Amino acid sequence: MKVRRTPDLGAPPSIPEQAHQRVSDLLASGRLHRYREGVTTPGAAARLEIAFAELIGRRYAVCVNSCGSSLYLALICSGVTSGDPVLMGAFTLAPVLGAIANASGRLVPVEITDDLVIDFADLEAKAKASGARHLLVSHMRGHVCDLAELTRICERLDLVLIEDCAHTLGATWSGRPTGSFGDVGCFSFQSAKHINAGEGGILVTDSPEIAARAILHSGSYMLYRQNGTCPPEDVMDVWRDRCANYSLRLSELAAELALAQLAEIPARARDWNSSHDRIAAGLSSVEGVVLPNRPPAEEYVQSSLQFRVPEFSADRMAIFVAACREQGVYVKWFGIAEAEGYTSAPRHWSALPGSPDAKRTQSILDTLCDIRLPLGLTSCDCDQIVAAISSAHAASATKVSP
Ligand SMILES: *Cc1c(COP(=O)(O)O)cnc(C)c1O
Repeated sequence: MKVRRTPDLGAPPSIPEQAHQRVSDLLASGRLHRYREGVTTPGAAARLEIAFAELIGRRYAVCVNSCGSSLYLALICSGVTSGDPVLMGAFTLAPVLGAIANASGRLVPVEITDDLVIDFADLEAKAKASGARHLLVSHMRGHVCDLAELTRICERLDLVLIEDCAHTLGATWSGRPTGSFGDVGCFSFQSAKHINAGEGGILVTDSPEIAARAILHSGSYMLYRQNGTCPPEDVMDVWRDRCANYSLRLSELAAELALAQLAEIPARARDWNSSHDRIAAGLSSVEGVVLPNRPPAEEYVQSSLQFRVPEFSADRMAIFVAACREQGVYVKWFGIAEAEGYTSAPRHWSALPGSPDAKRTQSILDTLCDIRLPLGLTSCDCDQIVAAISSAHAASATKVSP
């Protein structure tokens, strides 16, 4: 069965009307730069910082030009220096490895479980073996581990916890937002995430020292009082002449776009989750297809969907993925031999310096598939996606391997 009208699974969230006017006012003013000498009214990035800190429930927020930049700043501002081991959940995306490399950290991958979250036993073992003081954990593709337990483990092992929330804006654990558990939380405003500003990122923290350093490193030209959530003067005085300007600040244009979408998160979450839950329910009755378990404490915002076909060999996976795409459903495959688009798995970064492989994670990712869920899918769209995946699965389960 063919999907009749193929929805574009890669379509980003559209930009709300009110943002168009804001952006055109900004363009007319010409004040696109991140700081404004002689201007006293707060700019868009400053207003976004105030709103975002409040949304996540943290004291400080610092807008930067990407989530990758925010992860890099989180690492160096919380003390990572050259050669320091950094623990990292091994199911992640390339810019996370890049942030660690940029900070001159030494990557220590930690395995994940079948449910796609960090494995606490392996975390404990790797923390002890490496002597690492930092953990960077991605709530990859929206899957959140037991954050209450993770914070207890980090306290016990004396680890700085950095949460990569690129896929979890709006998600909570036991009612508390992701990004509010760690020492630092990092979010993305890239088009494929929950807020589409083209490019952009933000970090949140309760630590005045981390916030001060991040503001200065992001390139504040000593105009840091224009930031939305600037730590007290005495803290800024300690750091102001010790932090190099790396020019990583968010542009005003992107900040206006992001600001206009903040209030839409709850409605977007309902839209994404209703598509996700309908497709997940459909796929759960396809024999051979396995979906990760979701604990009741996790309130997810699922703008993509993951499933595994654990019985399939690499050859059969390739046939299956091609068959899905032929039916109009663009399935991504984390087990692919060479990284393609937004896939990333331990074998794809084994050539990076100091990155031993994560065999169990790789074997989980070998049969892991992913589809993106655009906003506005109808129940009919969802059912057609299930039908297409199901028939592609049936066809590739019987087809003789090439
Ligand atoms: C997209 C993404 C990032 C990086 O976001 P950018 O804003 O593109 O730098 C980091 N981590 C994860 C898990 C992501 O999906």
